[in-house]
Amino acid sequence: MAGPNGETRYIEVQPVPSPGQPTDYSDVIRDSRAGVLTSGERISLIGRWVVLLAALILNHFGNRNSPASVLFVDAALAGWAVVNAAVSVVLLRGYRPGRWFGLITTAIDLLVATSILYVTGGYSAPTDFSLVFYLLIIASGVRFGLPGAVAAAVVVSLLYIVVGGFTGSALTPPSGFVLGRIFLFLFVAVVAGLLVRDLTSRLDRALHAAIERAGQLDETRRREALEKERAQRLEEIDRVRSEFVSMVTHELQTPIASIKTQADTLLHQQHRLDQPTREALIEGIHRSAAALGALIEDFTSVNRIDTEHFTYRFELLDLSQFVREVVESFPMDAQKHPLRVRIEPGLQVRADRKRLQQVVMNLLSNAVKYSPRGGGVAVMAFLDRENRVKVSVHDEGLGMREEDIPRLFEKFSRLFDKRSLSISGTGLGLYITREIVRAHGGEMLVESVWGKGSTFSFVLPVAASSEVASTKTTTA
Ligand code: ADP
Repeated sequence: MAGPNGETRYIEVQPVPSPGQPTDYSDVIRDSRAGVLTSGERISLIGRWVVLLAALILNHFGNRNSPASVLFVDAALAGWAVVNAAVSVVLLRGYRPGRWFGLITTAIDLLVATSILYVTGGYSAPTDFSLVFYLLIIASGVRFGLPGAVAAAVVVSLLYIVVGGFTGSALTPPSGFVLGRIFLFLFVAVVAGLLVRDLTSRLDRALHAAIERAGQLDETRRREALEKERAQRLEEIDRVRSEFVSMVTHELQTPIASIKTQADTLLHQQHRLDQPTREALIEGIHRSAAALGALIEDFTSVNRIDTEHFTYRFELLDLSQFVREVVESFPMDAQKHPLRVRIEPGLQVRADRKRLQQVVMNLLSNAVKYSPRGGGVAVMAFLDRENRVKVSVHDEGLGMREEDIPRLFEKFSRLFDKRSLSISGTGLGLYITREIVRAHGGEMLVESVWGKGSTFSFVLPVAASSEVASTKTTTA
């Protein structure tokens, strides 16, 4: 994240979600059903245009019905053509119709068919337009399957008997011819319905088989991904382990070699050394032993954090005073690194004194370690805008690249920058620091500009005022 002055900022890294979730196919099924419905509508639309054309031909060539009925049929067919044209445009533009769309067009077809039947003079008319009814039954079969086709056939048959037989003012009883036609209506309905049922069940089976195959493929891919991840993790563990061994060896070698050389000098040349040299050698041994002690302390801390045995003893702490004491006790060479300290008085937190000292010491020692001679260090402690206590250690050192910042807090993580290759370290300090700060309910923040310097801060919640008040009463 870039800060207002172009510096890089880092605020707690979020975990990445693990891949390989199984896929949900309900969308595919829904989509395929809608697709089948749409192609059903397209098929009925083609049928409708064909029937319309056939009815037009029937109306004008060899039609023996009255001229009035010819005119009416033309008008009805023209209206139907307008509806069909609208439906065609809608379907061609990729609209996916629902069931209600089929119901509406069926109703329109039924209206056209019955009015033509009525106007042409019923089923006893010389020219028969019943083909519109066949279309209606087949289209219902395509849309609604066998039950839809049979229901349409029953409705059509009833209308055919009633509307077709109602000529003048009386209802003529259906003749054998009419009964034969009704039988045909039902027959067409059953055949169309069964065909459609067969087709849709084949399509369904094919779709389910494809989904099953895709599911198996998914599972295999998931397993492969997990396997790959496992292998990568093992490789990573191996790499960390060997890096750890070489790092420990290196880190131990330096102080041990120094102790050995100085102790050897003391042992074998004691009589030739003056008092100040002897003292300097003893001091050197002490410093190296302290460095070894700190190293062991870091390893122990990490081990305790990992096994959840890192314990805390919280107490109410005057942070202003505490930070000042820690900074004063830090062996800072003012010649090498000018130090500025700005601490707001009266900052109270609940903290473990020993652990928090580890945090401040670590930030101070990094500020010094990763700064060239002359690079100033500043320590600040104040209440931030969100009313949290903020302690910052600023240096004018190497600085870091933005992309490196998220790695800093990982265990054993060191930035392999050629500017800092000769600086020794374990890559554990910031990991331990962050764990301690988190255990205090706080967080770490980093701002850095490559080549200019860094500011490492931690924020902690302010101690509750009731707690502060009660301590004041007790100490008064
Ligand atoms: P160590 O200092 O022992 O390597 P840390 O965990 O304290 O381990 O720091 C991790 C890495 O972060 C260091 O190796 C260094 O590359 C980088 N780093 C930490 N503090 C600073 C700083 N003040 N300036 C520049 N780089 C830093």
